Amino acid sequence: MEYKLWIDGKWVDSQGGGTIVVENPSTGRKIAEVLDASRADVDRAVQAAKTAFYDGRWSKKSPGERSKIIWKLADLIEAHAEELARIESENTGKPYQFVSLGGDLPFAVDNLRFFAGATRDTSGSHAGEFMPGYTSMYRHEPVGVVGQIAPWNYPLMMAAWKIGPALAAGCTVVLKPAPGTPLTALMLAELTKEAGIPDGVVNIISGGNDSGQALVEHPDVRMISLTGSTGTGKKIMKTAADTLKRVHLELGGKAPFIVFQDSDPELVAAKASLAATMNTGQDCTAATRIYVEKSKAKIIQEAVVEAMRNVKVGLPFDEGIQMGPLISGIQRERVGGFVERAKAQGAKILTGGGVPTGLDAGYYFEPTVLTDVQQNWEIVQNEVFGPVVTVQEFENETEALHLANDIQYGLAASIFTKDVSRAMRLSSTLEFGTVWINDHLPLTSETPHGGFKQSGFGKDLSAEAIGDYQVTKHVMIAQ
Ligand code: NAD
Repeated sequence: MEYKLWIDGKWVDSQGGGTIVVENPSTGRKIAEVLDASRADVDRAVQAAKTAFYDGRWSKKSPGERSKIIWKLADLIEAHAEELARIESENTGKPYQFVSLGGDLPFAVDNLRFFAGATRDTSGSHAGEFMPGYTSMYRHEPVGVVGQIAPWNYPLMMAAWKIGPALAAGCTVVLKPAPGTPLTALMLAELTKEAGIPDGVVNIISGGNDSGQALVEHPDVRMISLTGSTGTGKKIMKTAADTLKRVHLELGGKAPFIVFQDSDPELVAAKASLAATMNTGQDCTAATRIYVEKSKAKIIQEAVVEAMRNVKVGLPFDEGIQMGPLISGIQRERVGGFVERAKAQGAKILTGGGVPTGLDAGYYFEPTVLTDVQQNWEIVQNEVFGPVVTVQEFENETEALHLANDIQYGLAASIFTKDVSRAMRLSSTLEFGTVWINDHLPLTSETPHGGFKQSGFGKDLSAEAIGDYQVTKHVMIAQ
């Protein structure tokens, strides 16, 4: 397949843009070359989305019609699941089993089906008489043209999380996937047409940070939805201030994983190793900071180390593989740098810390557990975005809560305990958008996902996500 820019329902060449080389991170080899959208390309895409928005070809369809079309898109993704999963694995290095059967693909399909259904939900509509002689009604209208900027860690799933609620709300979109992982998002383009989404409603442009910047600066874009790092979120919010755009920011995370002495070491070890190595730890909700109650610390730590050692690392298409490579050479250097600096500060590496034997090609890094770290060290405070966890001890619930909340991020956290009262107390005082009890990772299409503090604001998934793409208008009628 030749990849161009998808603007106004067709593939077009770039006007003055360059190209971006796309690699397979499990081999380091080039697998494709895509266009790098120029400012002029971004403008063309926005103009197409603007025309499509204002002539109502999408927003004026009934919710029932929109729902049917979004559902059809989900069906088409499902019909092409094998091919999409294969390309996603090649482009990201994710184990194929986690993208195909029980992984990203079915979840993306389910997300779109959820938003197809939620399009028709009338809850939240309101009418009433709040002043004698007047009737008020609230209209929830689409915000307009939305610029959607995605990260590289879940390219297809992020596209579904973004397109789904925006289309359900009646918006038109320009989606820009991350520079290194644009392939599956570009593959969606023709499926949107086949599903019946009118031309110009969904535009998909590959490009780098400058293409994203042009989208954020564009005066006709009413809202920017970003999933990316906290640093990028801050830059985007500043730029968006010039045109007072709405921003929806799903940013970094550094999830605590709190273990009390009454929990089962085997369960904890299984959940911790999965939550730390899923997607090679390149997950904004990944378990990264394990805090264990002192009286059980040794047993839990040993169980976690053993489970991390047993994670099967290898080529994405090999049978039974649980963890693939990091996304790039730069990312591996970054992750390795964090571990080396922690070691120099006095951290003890309990397992991992280097390149797994026999996997010299590609960008592999071992599942890694560090202990003897201090709360204020960068390895504890900053997002590493690799398969690396730290283990620290706490004396009591108060200290556990303090350590967990003592971070700039607030995306997700988990508590392991059999004490329901304690779990409920902590779930109300932990400053994180998601709190799991006796688990870590699961999300569903119905449940809101989003951060507190410097993990951003706005919700993905759930009916709340649709609300983020709407503006409320009050219409008042004198009787
Ligand atoms: P990134 O911030 O480097 O890039 C994200 C996207 O923003 C890319 O498409 C990039 O081209 C674009 N971009 C970068 N600079 C820009 C600018 N100045 N203006 C406009 N666009 C710009 O993030 P990444 O490295 O691709 O992804 C990893 C990050 O994403 C991690 O921090 C991770 O925690 C976060 N993430 C968060 C969630 C969530 O739901 N909160 C989910 C997945 C990933």
